[in-house]
Amino acid sequence: MERVIISRRAEERILRGHPWAYQGEVSGGEKIPPGTVVAIGNRKGRVLGKGHYNPRSKIALRVLTRDPEEAIDISFFRRRIGRALGYRERYVFRPDTDCYRLVFAEADFLPGLIVDRFGLYLVVQILTAGMENHREVIVDVLQELLKPQGIYERSDVSVRELEGLPLRQGFIGPPFEPLVTVRENGLLLQVDLASGQKTGYFLDQRDNRVFLRHFVRDRRVLDCFSYIGGFSLHAAFFGAREVIGVDLSEEAIRCAVRNAQLNGLEKVVHFEVANAFDFLREMDRTGERFEVVILDPPAFVKSKQALSGALRGYKEINLRAMKIIAPGGILMTSSCSHHLSLELFRAVLEEASLDVKRRIRILAERGQALDHPVLLGYEESQYLKCLVVEVV
Ligand code: SAH
Repeated sequence: MERVIISRRAEERILRGHPWAYQGEVSGGEKIPPGTVVAIGNRKGRVLGKGHYNPRSKIALRVLTRDPEEAIDISFFRRRIGRALGYRERYVFRPDTDCYRLVFAEADFLPGLIVDRFGLYLVVQILTAGMENHREVIVDVLQELLKPQGIYERSDVSVRELEGLPLRQGFIGPPFEPLVTVRENGLLLQVDLASGQKTGYFLDQRDNRVFLRHFVRDRRVLDCFSYIGGFSLHAAFFGAREVIGVDLSEEAIRCAVRNAQLNGLEKVVHFEVANAFDFLREMDRTGERFEVVILDPPAFVKSKQALSGALRGYKEINLRAMKIIAPGGILMTSSCSHHLSLELFRAVLEEASLDVKRRIRILAERGQALDHPVLLGYEESQYLKCLVVEVV
């Protein structure tokens, strides 16, 4: 097996549990083709484990195993995926919740691989040249362990280009109707696995949606960036008096309206296609007030460099939401940008609250749902922040 040598700095990071070494920290692999499994050596000649190597990527090495003897073969994938499945079956899957993230890449010790389960179907997303080389084995193991009715691939994300990979999307195996109905916390949701955003649905907010039950009863709720209605439907289900969901995507709103009907909640929940920034300003101008506002925008920060512009975006949207919240109302506000830390997010809220002259009390600081575990030592796996605050 080919061997690469990592720098001291990379070795320290990896020994502390991080799964990556960067370009410039890896030597001896200049001639090794992208995606090869290599032995990871330190400068003293000790082998630390095995990983996927890709000299084209800024993340040149991703650790697969810390056992130098462990073979990266079909049994490896059986063990890793089997363990990921065991965890979800024990803690996440319930008769009322049949969709979850089955494999959360590095945090499930399978760098570059995402697998989401939607009822009887699976969505696979392969992000690295290394995992691309194991694509068939992965599919075989998924068939074997889950016996899905169909698999759809959503390897259509631009990070693949950083690995030198083309974007790809489509059925793996026989085609099926990609509009599937799943259950989340007892609610029915129609999800479009082929043309929905990301892998079809934002599973990471599942537990935060349930958290709404503490404060939505009999209240008027505004769900900004609603997508296909996840938070809106939960709010209605937990007894909200009225819910308005807003999203820029017509396709998402069409789906959201169907989802409200599917659950018999169409009398309580209404959806509108609008830019959330404009919508909030309009609500303020016309004096509309809400007792609960939910903000779940897309990642405004895609890189460290883009942070300052994004901070303005987060401040703006939160400020506008605070303005239309009735005294003592609740703001449930999320950021899914890894680059925006919890501290910074809190500071953004503080600035916004000072501008609108309202006090803020933090009631809860939450993160990702159980099927998106955070691996200590790999802080990138912690990306979602959800603050629940009272706007006094
Ligand atoms: N809250 C959703 C997930 C939101 S993802 C859930 O629980 O499933 C972010 C959403 O914001 C996407 O649906 C996207 O279409 C929408 N979006 C992006 N920019 C927007 C804008 N300026 N105004 C309103 N919606 C926007």
